[in-house]
Amino acid sequence: MRTPIVVLLALLSFSSCSRHDGPVTRQGTVMDTYLSVSVYDDITEPAAAAAIDSVFTEIGRIDAMASDYNDQSEVGRANLAAGRDSMKVSAELADLLRRAIAYGDSTHGAFDITVGPLEQLWNVLSPSPRVPPRDSVDLLRKLVGYRSLSLLGNTLFLPRAGMRIDLGAIGKGYAVDRAAAVLTRLGIRKAIVDLGGNLYVRWEGTKGLDSAVATIAVRHPRSSGSYLGTFACGEGGVSTSGDYERYFMAGGVRYHHILDPSTGYPARGVVSTTIVAPTGEMADALSTIVFVMGRARGLDFLTKVPNTEGFIVYESGDSLAIDFTPGFRGKFSRERAHD
Ligand code: AMP
Ligand code: MG
Repeated sequence: MRTPIVVLLALLSFSSCSRHDGPVTRQGTVMDTYLSVSVYDDITEPAAAAAIDSVFTEIGRIDAMASDYNDQSEVGRANLAAGRDSMKVSAELADLLRRAIAYGDSTHGAFDITVGPLEQLWNVLSPSPRVPPRDSVDLLRKLVGYRSLSLLGNTLFLPRAGMRIDLGAIGKGYAVDRAAAVLTRLGIRKAIVDLGGNLYVRWEGTKGLDSAVATIAVRHPRSSGSYLGTFACGEGGVSTSGDYERYFMAGGVRYHHILDPSTGYPARGVVSTTIVAPTGEMADALSTIVFVMGRARGLDFLTKVPNTEGFIVYESGDSLAIDFTPGFRGKFSRERAHD
């Protein structure tokens, strides 16, 4: 069987194959991004296709729970009730929120799921984006602060009108973990789920960077269509956060979607971060956290997280440089043709 190659944050066209010459793959759009699921087990195509269907259903379910774009989701309804009513949420969402809040605590607020009002203000994907006036940033920054959320049992309350929960930095990682759980329940042992650059590599008997079963190609942040380099890994989560995913340019400056809650402006100093962790949720949250913390603080923080490795890409003069955690050193092969 071919070694699977997955491109982070880029679409590859896979084709469905018979049981003997490759994975069964399907792609679609969900949670406002692409979803690609590949099953490598040596099973019939209908069996693999049924498992993939179940993954799409599961991720659709999580979107219906946690999307802040959807006023009908649990998060959407809690946001609409901000400053007015508390809401009973599912135990599943309450648990996810508690873990997200814990990331806020352990990062002294670099990770903050209440950045929603600022994300809306920046609206980097609008057809005519612009840099908002500083006054507006400062005003909305006052609505940001996960510490003021009230979550007692399953009862959630956003105390101030205009507050908004945005799980964009952790929800997709959580979703790929749930997808992996579905695959495991269905007896699938080898599969890759890629939800907008948040991967879960399901490969029984392997573990993170200790194993080399899947080759991950990391998209070049400044040259779409080419790779920055590749690394190999086994079971676990892999996530990249980058300033090239959602951004606009104004006056020669790049304004992207990963915000520093302490300033209200896009976090500066990092181009992208890639994390390999035991779960998709950890990889997702940590890629955003390290991005916001910046090179020195981010690398220091990451180095202290057990079973987790990563690297930080940043601009150095006219080219890109990379800092690795000790466990990642020597495991990333840089593409020579570019930068
Ligand atoms: P990611 O691509 O995983 O780094 O997530 C970026 C998304 O997370 C953004 O589009 C926002 O929805 C949200 N976000 C941006 N900045 C932060 C932050 N400092 N803490 C938590 N979530 C954030
Ligand atoms: Mg993230």
